[in-house]
Amino acid sequence: MVIDEILAYNEQFVQENRLPIIGHKPRKRLAVVTCMDCRLVQMFEQALGLERGDAIELRTAGATISESDREGGLNDLIRSLAGGIYLLGVREVAVIGHTQCGLARADPTALIASMQALGVDPQPLLEKAGPKSWIGAFDDVHVNVKEVVNVIRNSPYLPKIPVHGLVIDIETGKLEMVERG
Ligand SMILES: [Zn+2]
Repeated sequence: MVIDEILAYNEQFVQENRLPIIGHKPRKRLAVVTCMDCRLVQMFEQALGLERGDAIELRTAGATISESDREGGLNDLIRSLAGGIYLLGVREVAVIGHTQCGLARADPTALIASMQALGVDPQPLLEKAGPKSWIGAFDDVHVNVKEVVNVIRNSPYLPKIPVHGLVIDIETGKLEMVERG
């Protein structure tokens, strides 16, 4: 399994590297919300100029909050942001979606087929929210970014601090400002 490869690499890593001791409060007082897409690994921080200790990073599939979790402004993303703001000094938030996101026009039929192929009954999901809404699929990354920005801005659990919405080009790393906080 891949985990064995990781463990072997890690053993070498800790032998060869001494990491500097730094605090857990983000130096730039920034929290970024982005997607879990594997193409963002490393490239994302490099394109934004973020170093270890600079910012808090939160990732969800599609950099989104599923529809059923938006109401009331309390969900895991808000909880994490609250921790960053109240306990770690975050004073600025950037929601950064990306081009070619897998959740833009995600196929609910493929999701259900894959669940069944892996031995999971899709019925409870279908009864609850419907697969498209549950997985958080959206049609337009710009619209999604604006919606997530609004959920964060309007949450009664968070203070009024700047919340920006951006889209990053997955091929070039170029950022596009969609909405400035
Ligand atoms: Zn994505």
